[in-house]
Amino acid sequence: MSGIGVLALQGDFVEHIKTFSSLGVSAQEIRKANQISDLDALVIPGGESTTISYLMDLYNFRSAIKDAASSDLPIWGTCAGLILMANNLKEDIPIPLSLMNINVSRNAYGRQIDSFKDSINFSFDRENPFPGVFIRAPKILDIDENVDVICTLNDGEIVGVKQGNKLGTSFHPELTTDNRFHKYFIDLVYS
Ligand code: GLN
Repeated sequence: MSGIGVLALQGDFVEHIKTFSSLGVSAQEIRKANQISDLDALVIPGGESTTISYLMDLYNFRSAIKDAASSDLPIWGTCAGLILMANNLKEDIPIPLSLMNINVSRNAYGRQIDSFKDSINFSFDRENPFPGVFIRAPKILDIDENVDVICTLNDGEIVGVKQGNKLGTSFHPELTTDNRFHKYFIDLVYS
């Protein structure tokens, strides 16, 4: 088995799979920890991070993902996925996977009703902003110097980060028709 796996425990995994498939890349739902070792890359989707974390523990995903990450598997987390990739979380739960040197706070833009859309400056296509969909989104509070900023809001707020082949976005490219972010990840994985 190969291709891009999308963690399918909870959240909007279907939308990621549809976008990768529309770009001609093989993508599959990951529901068992033993599927991880054969993948070319993994996406941890948006959803509810405490629920995803609970299910990751229930089905023994934690060590499988951490092992694959340390063997250099490219991993991209969106929203709840970003929360789970952090090495530091302001809140006590969930326990994140510590895959990126970032400090994150959950629900830091407010409640569900405070969800918003905004245009995002995108380091790999500076001419054309990206439509940002933020749903009860986390904030990236701090990053270490080995983490690159790849997406910001107009006021400079960091909303997308890259550390080697690990990516985190506080917004949801999978919920838009703009597939440039998925193309960017595909290039990172396959070129
Ligand atoms: N607020 C959610 C959490 O804490 C994340 C929201 C999302 O993924 N859209 O897990």
